[in-house]
Amino acid sequence: MSRLNIDKITHLKDVAAATEYLFTCISPSEDIQQALDFSLNVHEGQTRKSGEPYIVHPILVAAIVASITEDTAMIKAALLHDVVEDTAATIEEVETLFGADVAHLVGGLTKIDAIRGENLLPSGSNEKLVASALSFRKMLLASIKDVRVLVVKLCDRLHNMLTLDALPPEKQHRISEETLVVHAPIAHRLGISFLKNLLEDLSFSYLFKEEKAEIERYLEENYQAIEVKLNGFRHRVNQLLIQNGFMVEDFEILSRVKHSYSIYLKMQRKGIGIDEILDLLAIRILVKKPLDCYNVLGLIHLNFQPLSSRFKDYIAIAKDNGYQTLHTTVFSSTTIFEVQIRTFEMHRTAELGVAAHWKYKGGSERGVNLEWLHNLQYQNESVEDFYELIKNDLYSEDISVFSPKGKAYTLPRGAVALDFAYAVHTQIGERASGALVNKKQASLLTELKNGDLVRIITADHPIYHCTWIDAVKTSKSVGVT
Ligand code: MN
Repeated sequence: MSRLNIDKITHLKDVAAATEYLFTCISPSEDIQQALDFSLNVHEGQTRKSGEPYIVHPILVAAIVASITEDTAMIKAALLHDVVEDTAATIEEVETLFGADVAHLVGGLTKIDAIRGENLLPSGSNEKLVASALSFRKMLLASIKDVRVLVVKLCDRLHNMLTLDALPPEKQHRISEETLVVHAPIAHRLGISFLKNLLEDLSFSYLFKEEKAEIERYLEENYQAIEVKLNGFRHRVNQLLIQNGFMVEDFEILSRVKHSYSIYLKMQRKGIGIDEILDLLAIRILVKKPLDCYNVLGLIHLNFQPLSSRFKDYIAIAKDNGYQTLHTTVFSSTTIFEVQIRTFEMHRTAELGVAAHWKYKGGSERGVNLEWLHNLQYQNESVEDFYELIKNDLYSEDISVFSPKGKAYTLPRGAVALDFAYAVHTQIGERASGALVNKKQASLLTELKNGDLVRIITADHPIYHCTWIDAVKTSKSVGVT
């Protein structure tokens, strides 16, 4: 598995160079070569809008997939992802040549294209976002049996976004909107943060050109000052760890500036300027063992004044998508820094999400909780409401609530007891008749707070909640239809 060279992938335009790059991501093998040759053959003569041979696209999608996983079926499926849709090749041929697993993945990807085609409205339509979301829902339902299909699809979309410059502005806009509403959320939910961040930033740069330029101008103008502050803080933390018994090889400190789309969202959500964003500057400390994280946290808090309200322990209470990290925010001199602390293993999980722990040869059961997929359903709202809904669902800070046995559930802020019931199990949701929140009797529409302990009282038979849900016109109720 290799680190992806995004800049290189964006600018690779010829077959030989793309092939060479692919084989730096995965070692050459007969069966990969066979899939490549087949794809080369059937795509022969086809070109992309930008003029380069079509085959460059599937090769680079395969390279992106290879940076996430060693699953060769997925890499072959990436090479073959458009052959059924766009060439004379059939799915039967793919199955005969490459086996049932690869054919199943290619079939899933072809199906997604077909569904998308059916659901795409004319570009002038004001309802395009809703249409995308509906196709999104169907797409998920169609491919839910194998999350690998979704991951290849996300890699396909990433390469399309990287090469979007070749398309007319109108198409750039639509594809970016779709990416922001459909693909980035899937990447987020699958926990593949590097894909999510790239998809968001790329869409953002086409959808909000001025805002993006403004953020970039600020970062450029302040580049020197930002670098000096970040490096200074990083150096101080480095010294602190060394002085307290950490060996140089035991940890790594990464520093970063928040990515531009999340800067934008934060400015929008809080109505603040870029210089008021508290976690604009951040460092990430990687250590070997979970307990080391808490040691480092102790050292940080004893040496830098923390903003206590911003501390989050996602190690003890992991997010639903498997994300684990300690988050804190501290002052150093007069500057505020966000500090994230995690193990190397947690870092891998955070970057690669579900793909980090796949057993490469195995059944279709990947051990991932895909319950949430059913909850990502959106109703017909106006475009503005819809955007709002999506943003709220994805970016409002989550809360953690607990079952009577202490199991943690991550819910969006604003979730009610009934949402919790459905999060536990669809059948619990359907049979819920009342709730105890922190041991006190409460209605199923009681809004939950971070840390609440919730017990759901169930009836013997399903209870129809439709009328209640209709009464609550926010995103939280949409998921429980
Ligand atoms: Mn494609």
